[in-house]
Order: sequence, then structure tokens, then C-alpha cells
Amino acid sequence: MDIKALIREIPDFPKPGINFKDITTLLRDPEGLQYTIDALAEKCAPLEADFVVGMESRGFIFGAPLACKLGTGFIPVRKPGKLPAAVHSVEYQLEYGMDRLEVHQDALHPPESKILIVDDVIATGGTAGATARLVQQTGCTLVGFAFVIELTALNGRKHLPDAPVITLVEF
Ligand code: AMP
Repeated sequence: MDIKALIREIPDFPKPGINFKDITTLLRDPEGLQYTIDALAEKCAPLEADFVVGMESRGFIFGAPLACKLGTGFIPVRKPGKLPAAVHSVEYQLEYGMDRLEVHQDALHPPESKILIVDDVIATGGTAGATARLVQQTGCTLVGFAFVIELTALNGRKHLPDAPVITLVEF
């Protein structure tokens, strides 16, 4: 199935020069959504993850149904101040300034858990790379990354530690 055709491109959003990959058109298509989750699950199953970790907020949309399909739990990684219990946090570089991601300290447990990191898009790789550091801080094993979309020109993989990277669509 050609899910690339279901992803809408919006030029100059959220600012000039960014060609935004809008996944809402993929999400509202019943076959497209089903295919996306099934295809991710098929490719990720051999990684034998114990948990799927998804980043706020579009990582939640794909991460939770993928976890369901893989029979694993889902762990949200959130922007600062959103999670109610004690957190681990990691800072990472944005184009201008720094940002922070957080995860519940008792979520990435036990330490021998195998973790799969999921997001909608890998662009510069900064977000996924920071999430990987967060996972590795806890001693858990990172078994791979899965993204629906890879923006290959940005070579985001260079910010990721050595682990399998699964993607469905390249731009
Ligand atoms: P990254 O640069 O890899 O850290 O990307 C950060 C986040 O921004 C990802 O989680 C994507 O959801 C989002 N993102 C970055 N670039 C785009 C784009 N061109 N279209 C849609 N989402 C994007």
C-alpha cells in the first residue's frame, strides 16, 4: 500500500523553509492507518521489545497501537512538567536553545527491559537521540527505533546510537 500518497506536505509550516509532513491525512484513512500499524509491527516484532517508548505527542499516536499489536506496554516520554511522579530527564539541543524530555523513573524498569523508541518522523534525529540517552541512563537495553517517515537529507541517524532503525516512508 502506498502510504506516502496519504501523507500531506504543507510548505512553510510552522515556519518558512520547513516542508511539514502532515500525518493527519494518513491517520483519517482507515486502511492507511491499519496498514501503518501492521507494517511497523511486522518489522519491529523481531526486535522482541518489552516496551514501546513514544515521544510527545505524535509518538503517542503510533506508539500505543504498535505496543498493543506487539503485546508490549507503552511508556510516554513527555515535555517538562507533564508527568506527575518522579522523573528522569534529558536536555537536548534545538535549533535555538535547549529543550528537555522526561520519563517516569519507575517506568523504565526493570533495568533489563528491552526498549523500542517510536516517533512519527525522524528529521535531525535530535529528539530520538535524546530519548535514547534517557533510556540508556536507566540501564535498559535499546533494541531499536521505528519511524513512519524518515527525512533522509537531514541524516538524523547520525544522532542515534548503534541500533536497528526501521522506517516505512522516505522523503
Ligand atoms: P527531529 O529534528 O528529528 O528531532 O524532529 C523533531 C520532531 O519534529 C519529530 O518528532 C517530528 O515529529 C517533528 N518534525 C520535524 N521535522 C518535521 C517535518 N518536516 N514534518 C513533520 N514533522 C516534523
